[in-house]
Amino acid sequence: MTTKVADPVIEVHDLTVSYQRKPALWGVDFSLPSGVLAGIIGPNGAGKSTLIKAMMGLVSGDSGYVRLFNRPIDEVRGKVAYVPQRGTVDWDFPASVLDVVLMGRFKKRRLFSRLSKADEALALRCLEQVGMEGFKYRQISQLSGGQQQRVFLARALAQQAEIYLMDEPFAGIDATTEQTIFELLGKLRDEGKTILVVHHDLQSAYQYFDWIILLNTQLVASGPRSDIFVPDYLRKTYGGKLNMLTSVGEMLAEMEAPTREK
Ligand code: ADP
Ligand code: MG
Repeated sequence: MTTKVADPVIEVHDLTVSYQRKPALWGVDFSLPSGVLAGIIGPNGAGKSTLIKAMMGLVSGDSGYVRLFNRPIDEVRGKVAYVPQRGTVDWDFPASVLDVVLMGRFKKRRLFSRLSKADEALALRCLEQVGMEGFKYRQISQLSGGQQQRVFLARALAQQAEIYLMDEPFAGIDATTEQTIFELLGKLRDEGKTILVVHHDLQSAYQYFDWIILLNTQLVASGPRSDIFVPDYLRKTYGGKLNMLTSVGEMLAEMEAPTREK
């Protein structure tokens, strides 16, 4: 099930991506309107990171295409912020927290042009928004995983992009901070930005996202969350692994209860 979008900001068409001939994504097709906070949900190895990377042009497809604002990514990079999955980034480079956030401003400006006081003030505001302003002079390598993650979120915010692509930005982040950051993402959404977040927790996904994309190599479903959070689609996405996730099992039981009473 894919909800058709009249004027999409993100369009993924018939996308197949393989590693050593093994498909990680297969014929994936969906589009997103502007001003949604969307979650990509699926089990480990479902191709979630590959999808985000393909959208950023970091891996190329065997077939299909991705268009953002009806353009190829290379023409609109300045409008797109990307938070890679942790563990795929080398955190050992010598840079302060503030430097890392300021890198988000360089993408906005011409290469080698000087950053202004205003850029620095903005970077500090972004650090405040993720609760990391007290660490601005700390070396990034000295932070905990969750703290590094928050700094990378701040860098994405500093880019003042139109589209935000985030790959498991909440890994290693405590529940309170997660909630604060989701509120922040909600505000960006209300300003008309389009935000696409890879997220692994189904329960909080239902709480936070207004649009859900269910992925398991193939696209299972994409649409407004109430259309997508139905037992059939969740089962198709998680298959046998679903029983292991007790909370999700309970959620499904609750969803199905009204049906059983009929
Ligand atoms: P997810 O983010 O949903 O866990 P990924 O997109 O990382 O899934 O991976 C999808 C599939 O592609 C997995 O089977 C993974 O092992 C494989 N894969 C991912 N990256 C590579 C790579 N660089 N080389 C070979 N196989 C890869
Ligand atoms: Mg991944």
